[in-house]
Amino acid sequence: MSATLHTLLTPWRIWRRLALWQQIVAGMALGIVVGIVLGPSATVLKPIGTLFVNAIKMLIVPLVFCSLIVGVTSIKDSQKMGRIGIKAIAFYLISTAIAISLGLLIGTLFEPGAGMDLVAKEQAATKEAPSFINTLVSIVPQNPVAALASGKILQIIVFAAALGVALNLIGEKSKPAVAVFTSLAEAMYKLTSLVMTLAPYGVFALMASIAGSYGLAVLEKLMIVIVAVYIGCALHIYGCYGLFISLIGRLNPAIFFKKIIDAQSIAFTSSSSSGTLPVSLRCSEEKLGVPKSISSFVLPLGATINMDGTALYQGVTALFVAQAFGIDLSLADYLTIITTATLASIGTAGVPGAGLIMLTLVLTTVGLPVEGVALIAGIDRILDMARTMVNVSGDLMVTTLISKSEQELNLEIYSDGSATNTTS
Ligand code: ASP
Repeated sequence: MSATLHTLLTPWRIWRRLALWQQIVAGMALGIVVGIVLGPSATVLKPIGTLFVNAIKMLIVPLVFCSLIVGVTSIKDSQKMGRIGIKAIAFYLISTAIAISLGLLIGTLFEPGAGMDLVAKEQAATKEAPSFINTLVSIVPQNPVAALASGKILQIIVFAAALGVALNLIGEKSKPAVAVFTSLAEAMYKLTSLVMTLAPYGVFALMASIAGSYGLAVLEKLMIVIVAVYIGCALHIYGCYGLFISLIGRLNPAIFFKKIIDAQSIAFTSSSSSGTLPVSLRCSEEKLGVPKSISSFVLPLGATINMDGTALYQGVTALFVAQAFGIDLSLADYLTIITTATLASIGTAGVPGAGLIMLTLVLTTVGLPVEGVALIAGIDRILDMARTMVNVSGDLMVTTLISKSEQELNLEIYSDGSATNTTS
């Protein structure tokens, strides 16, 4: 009897021993098989998937609000910090805007969702495109509580950033509030990882109902999304960052890439910029020659607000969803995607799966069906690995450039142990 029980429980034990991302991939694969076997009746599983998507949506507002305040208040306001902070934010924003534009370009070239003809259950309300000025004016909320309650994420980001700045300005008196937000942000990261433990089941149900309703054609398209995102990530790291390092930093990019491999591989396997932070710090200080005073400030800031890979991924996937549901995007929509994805990537926590949550808000802001998230969820971990690698490489690139511009980069350490020397 107990032997039978033991045998019955074996698959469960094996399942429990798998890492989360392995469970998600397995859930996706199993979902596809079940969907193909059951056909359209696999849609009975959909409510489980909806539950997962709802749980993800539940996280957005508090996660963005708290983690952004923590990011802003971590900028200490001495003069040097102010200067380095401005440089860092400028570099972070510029490289993120390039990343999202690259994502949109790749999404347009690859057209991963073309010809899928999916029909949105809840067609996003077709809204009049607001004028650019109106969009700009309305990002400052008249009522921050209403913005929080209705999930207006751009307004939330503006309010959180302003509150963070104000907290910095009141110095000592901000301590209790900062402690509260820090602790809430930690709790939200924890909640994110708890919700992510449901991902294998949610993804299984979503994939089963998608494969059941649409058949294998959808899956071929998802492969194209993966290839498109990976090509975009490689171009951004080795093209864009390579140019930044050689043209702005006047440093040899080959050395830079060789020295950040450790951090990149941890980022790739852990899918977490925050989790990679200890390795990034070590890489920047011991291998690149960045002084502690700069790395300890710029890298954590980057792990909180600089998410080029996430922005690039949002560009490709937003276009994929628009193409899959046959929705034409206007120029204003493209601009909205660029603005929202740039701001959303700032509010993305450096933890696995956070970019998927933010994708929901990019889609809603542009009026694209949120069901698109379900399509992406199944392959999200694979995409997360590449985009986190970009995020971490971007943080290290900016940290290196800033130390160079502050004349604090130790060039001996930078070029030491490498086949080639610096070009400066
Ligand atoms: N996992 C990413 C990171 O930690 C964030 C994301 O999901 O896009 O950098």
